[in-house]
Amino acid sequence: MSDPLLRVKDLVRYFSIKGGIFSREVDRVHAVDGVSFEIAAGETLGLVGESGCGKSTTGRCILRLIEPTAGEIWFAGRNVTALGGEALRALARDMQIIFQDPYASLNPRMTVGAIIGEALIIHKLAKTPREFEERIVSLLETVGLSADHMRRYPHEFSGGQRQRIGIARALAVSPKLIVCDEPVSALDVSIQAQVINLLEDLQEQFNLTYLFIAHDLSVVEHISNRVAVMYLGRIVEIASAHDLYTRPLHPYTEALLSAVPIPDPEVKRQRIMLQGDVPSPIRPPTGCRFHTRCPIRELPLCSTESPPLKQGADGHWVACHLRG
Ligand code: SF4
Repeated sequence: MSDPLLRVKDLVRYFSIKGGIFSREVDRVHAVDGVSFEIAAGETLGLVGESGCGKSTTGRCILRLIEPTAGEIWFAGRNVTALGGEALRALARDMQIIFQDPYASLNPRMTVGAIIGEALIIHKLAKTPREFEERIVSLLETVGLSADHMRRYPHEFSGGQRQRIGIARALAVSPKLIVCDEPVSALDVSIQAQVINLLEDLQEQFNLTYLFIAHDLSVVEHISNRVAVMYLGRIVEIASAHDLYTRPLHPYTEALLSAVPIPDPEVKRQRIMLQGDVPSPIRPPTGCRFHTRCPIRELPLCSTESPPLKQGADGHWVACHLRG
């Protein structure tokens, strides 16, 4: 990929667990542990994995909402991890986030107009009150709402409408990249498709780039150009959406895919039930982190040596000793 818009390199984020009378670090949660990927301008990368695998922490580190422990994040040729002060604030215009919970992410005491307009004020993007109002109306209409919604409060809206408000707020500063952090997980299935369609339309209209985080492979299938699968803080597979869905290589991806319903009743897919629970990220397994649940593991290799993420044909990357 030439000149990606976003490049994440060896990203690490540990969370300290403190204890004792001196509140010293007694342990660490290995939330993100050496994650690397790139996203081209105008592309959507789906980032998928079970809850607690580090996908949301990755998204928040990219926006510096959480400080990375180590690693680099490059956006449009600039090292985001090295920026501070005004430069970081300016960069916040180019990178926005849409949160999972449209109920918790909107301030209930603010009108919709004030919520969407906040960023316009912070970044001085409207010169007059009239321009401010016109911009808010235009943003509301862009996401399928109307001008009279501007003076209402979040509790007056349905979940799907609230997520539209969240999208309008993200769009207010004309960003280049949006981290969509499980934007449809809290919505009814019938509403999920509408919000995903809206995000696709907006991407085309404004040439947006998305990192689309989800815990379910079926959600990211249609919106993503490529998909990365995470397990216990690491990426185990990255491929084009078509390749990943038609010929997954990693046994964890195979298990996730086996749970995705197929609309065609003629096509049967055998469900792969993984044994055991996801191990604790405080003490992740040695070697391949998936080896405690992997149906094809080979011991002792898989429990002692960590498989690197290797590139195969057609940009299909996999971290497995036996596949790829
Ligand atoms: Fe399974 Fe071994 Fe491959 Fe890990 S490296 S996914 S344990 S076969």
